[in-house]
Amino acid sequence: ESLSLKIREQKIKINQYIDELKHERDTIGLITENMKEGFILINKNRQILSINTSGKHMIGNEKFDLRPSRNILELIRNSEILQQVENSIEKNIHTIHDIKKDGRYLRYYFSPVKEQYSLKATGLLILIEDITNQKNAEIMRREFSANVSHELKTPLTTIIGFAEMIKEGLITDSDSIRKYCGMINNEGLRLIALIEDIMRLSRIEEGVSHEENSNINLKEIAEETAALLSHKAGELNIHLEVDAVDAFIKANRNYMSELMYNLVDNGIKYNKSGGSVFISVKKDGRQIIISVSDTGVGIPEEYRDRIFERFYRVDKSRSKETGGTGLGLSIVKHISELYNGKVELKTKEDEGTEITVKFNCF
Ligand code: ADP
Repeated sequence: ESLSLKIREQKIKINQYIDELKHERDTIGLITENMKEGFILINKNRQILSINTSGKHMIGNEKFDLRPSRNILELIRNSEILQQVENSIEKNIHTIHDIKKDGRYLRYYFSPVKEQYSLKATGLLILIEDITNQKNAEIMRREFSANVSHELKTPLTTIIGFAEMIKEGLITDSDSIRKYCGMINNEGLRLIALIEDIMRLSRIEEGVSHEENSNINLKEIAEETAALLSHKAGELNIHLEVDAVDAFIKANRNYMSELMYNLVDNGIKYNKSGGSVFISVKKDGRQIIISVSDTGVGIPEEYRDRIFERFYRVDKSRSKETGGTGLGLSIVKHISELYNGKVELKTKEDEGTEITVKFNCF
């Protein structure tokens, strides 16, 4: 009686224990399956004990089927990675290795698994992280610094050149002196404009805090911008028109003004005498649509993908003449992205351009 009772009790305990283990295994499985990092665990014989879907995907072997005692060589063919596996197990050290694969950057972390009291590795944990975004940001930052230096150097070279000519007495009559000083002045102003744009762009890139956002009416912004630029438009004989409905968005007021200003300013700058610029703010369900269209010079097909890049200018001399820095549209794009907006471009060479920014409002 009591013996069978004991056995039964034991059986219940064992079942409970097994359930716990299963639960633990399922939990770990669930965690690794939901990780976006690749996860691979191997034992000291280089046999794979566990691999998650991200891992298979990142290695480029989606169909890999984990049967018992499959060797790491059956999964990974990259010799650099295999060498790191050996190195890490043999020397019992943590290592990190980056590789580039199909245009993506992957970072591999190798961590030896040690048993308690044992100095030798009993296995290896491999984690794979996709660091493409970080790498691209790094590359962009590097290119940006190079571009900034170049852009700043050009006007400075001109300024120094003219100043030197005057100093050396190569230009003596007062008309010429006035002319060259005017150029120095212009280049100086360009430098300031450039520096201000760069600073603004980097501030925007830092993002916005919610306190800076308020409920603003884009109709007001459109009207203010038109008022601000009406003088410039008049001087260039460009007709400026606003057609806006009340449209509220939670955003930083200065940023929205800047977005609008850059678009309208471009519409005026890249226009022809007698042309016009239309600013419209519409609502479509939950969407707010800002559109700035002009009857200007348009953008040739081959440049369309590039005009939102920093410092990119289609017609360098025209842009320079109009005081362009090549940063206006990249500022527009960055501000839109800050509020999950989408920028679209429609343009026809010699006929005009329309840039639309769409925001979802909730
Ligand atoms: P910029 O300071 O030179 O105006 P942007 O980033 O604002 O720089 O614009 C990049 C380039 O795109 C400009 O140099 C210009 O060639 C072209 N562009 C921008 N807006 C227009 C437009 N409305 N019509 C024609 N070309 C435009």
